[in-house]
Amino acid sequence: MLSRLTLLAAIAATLAAAQGPRRAVSLIVTNGTVVTVDAARRVIERGAVAVDGRDIVAVDTAAAIAARFTARDTIDAAGAVVMPGLINTHTHAPMVLFRGLADDLALMDWLQKYIFPAEAKTVSPEFVRAGTRLAALEMIESGTTAYADMYYFEEEIGRATKAAGLRGVLGETIIQFPVPDAKTPAESLARAERFAAEFAGDELITPAVAPHAMYTLDAETLKACRALADRLRMPVIIHLAETTDEVKTADEKYHATPTAFLDSLGFWRPGTLAAHGVHLTPADIQILANRHVAVSHNPESNMKLASGIAPVEALRKAGVVVGLGTDGAASNNDLDMFEAMRQTAFLHKLVAGDPRAIPAPVALEMATIDGARALGLEKKIGSLETGKRADLLVVSMASARQTPMYDPISHLVYVTRGDDVRTTIVNGKVLMRDRKVLTLDANRVLAEARLYADKVRAAVR
Ligand SMILES: [Zn+2]
Repeated sequence: MLSRLTLLAAIAATLAAAQGPRRAVSLIVTNGTVVTVDAARRVIERGAVAVDGRDIVAVDTAAAIAARFTARDTIDAAGAVVMPGLINTHTHAPMVLFRGLADDLALMDWLQKYIFPAEAKTVSPEFVRAGTRLAALEMIESGTTAYADMYYFEEEIGRATKAAGLRGVLGETIIQFPVPDAKTPAESLARAERFAAEFAGDELITPAVAPHAMYTLDAETLKACRALADRLRMPVIIHLAETTDEVKTADEKYHATPTAFLDSLGFWRPGTLAAHGVHLTPADIQILANRHVAVSHNPESNMKLASGIAPVEALRKAGVVVGLGTDGAASNNDLDMFEAMRQTAFLHKLVAGDPRAIPAPVALEMATIDGARALGLEKKIGSLETGKRADLLVVSMASARQTPMYDPISHLVYVTRGDDVRTTIVNGKVLMRDRKVLTLDANRVLAEARLYADKVRAAVR
């Protein structure tokens, strides 16, 4: 088999050479096991990806790529897997600064005694900038290349994300009560509109509107969020049915489930991303499917806060796109998407009482191509294919933990960690090479984060 492949590669090389000079491109990543997550789910042994500028121009065997292209820069991925960058469909990036501040508490104690007071006293544009830089450093180091966010001062998150070279669908949070960046929802909506104008047409940043949840907003504001998103053609991100408390509130106030209540407002449209979706009825799932709403599944946060188990298999069966997320680092406590894949596979096997539930290839799809679909970016990212943006990783498979390797996809889901990512590339730009992050000064980012930790500690004392 191997010799036949080698022979085919040699023939391809000869044919290409006969066709004339090789095309000069900016970057070739070569000699790795290329896990494409394309429509045919191709895995190419000794494969390569040719990148020119921001785009993938070819995905093939190393020999075939060498025959067709010369590159100004080459990354040797021997002994490693080359794969699409991971897509985190739900987080609150600056909350990395609250990482480990308070654990093992009931949700309301956690929120009311720690998170809300800490946010009220510390969250500022500078805080958000420092937090986003720390989150970006962690994401680049652990192989996340695109993420969906909802927080305050989202324009700062947009600027810091772009400077770090990451891709983001970033939602300015709209909430009924006064928050650090706005006294009223109207102020937040105006801020969201300015944010949208600042990043209109941006290559990396997609501005979004992020109404926090149905239980923290009145019907009028929820409709205003929908209207703003429709007018400016922005995606919408919202928390949905995360806890039984939310379901109870919806029932008491509106005699409906959170999903049905939002449906009655005309809130659900394609291009809407619902985070969590833990407590959904079969009728809710049908609403989400009919309205083409995507769901972000956050197994680690849901387990840590004991929120419940999202009906991921039922959602997928109904045709709902389900991406994976970490949620904010205050409830996880990291942004490692490899762990999110692993926990998704484990959790749904356990709840189904069936080890065949969420097999490794499905967990990988959820963290890549389905994440891209959840963000409405599936034409640009989520797989390694000619014509897509070059968002990709080189993941080492050399550790004892990863030896031997029979199946690269099994290894990506069941033994690989974020730390195994060696090189991270977004939009054709190398953000980390051989574990050195090139777009952020790591020591400065860490020192700045430690300074803010002192303020956070004082705020909850
Ligand atoms: Zn959240």
